[in-house]
Amino acid sequence: MGELKQVTLDASESSGFATTKLDALLGWARKWSLFKYPFVTACCGMEFMAVTSPRFDGTARFGAEAPRFSPRQSDLLWVVGTISQRQAPVLKRIYEQMMEPKWVLAFGTCASCGGFYDNYTTVPGIDKIIPCDVYIPGCPPRPEAVIDGLMLLQDKIARGDKTPGIVKPREDPASLVKLRLSKDSGQ
Ligand code: SF4
Repeated sequence: MGELKQVTLDASESSGFATTKLDALLGWARKWSLFKYPFVTACCGMEFMAVTSPRFDGTARFGAEAPRFSPRQSDLLWVVGTISQRQAPVLKRIYEQMMEPKWVLAFGTCASCGGFYDNYTTVPGIDKIIPCDVYIPGCPPRPEAVIDGLMLLQDKIARGDKTPGIVKPREDPASLVKLRLSKDSGQ
């Protein structure tokens, strides 16, 4: 008969393992069940509708389709369009009313940095008022860029990463300009 060995579990090791697994499970569940609060103020709203339409299917397949029109039931604030100084306190209030954990997407150049509205009435980016997790540049951003932004956010949620991220263009804009110029000149 072989020797019997007593196996003991190190309590600290097992609880660390369980916590890591639980965090991973929570991250996975959260990233696929986002409840959006759309704060739509300007022309980017047209592209927001395009993203959510069946043609691009930019939210439903990511578990982020259902809108909530109470900030208390939302965990993802979509800031879509230009934010004026008069709207700033309202936006801040809405953000504060959301429960933790919560995330913010800046949809378009105006929400990200104020866009070309370099004047006293426009907030030069929502991060002057509230924290922002992902910036999606573009005037307005293409639906593909918005989908990239949503996937970037999902990745951050899964990893528990709170550092802000920015969506990079899928193609180098300089190469697109060169392509257009060469087409225009018939080369
Ligand atoms: S980024 Fe462009 S499209 Fe979007 S709100 Fe500003 S001006 Fe309008």
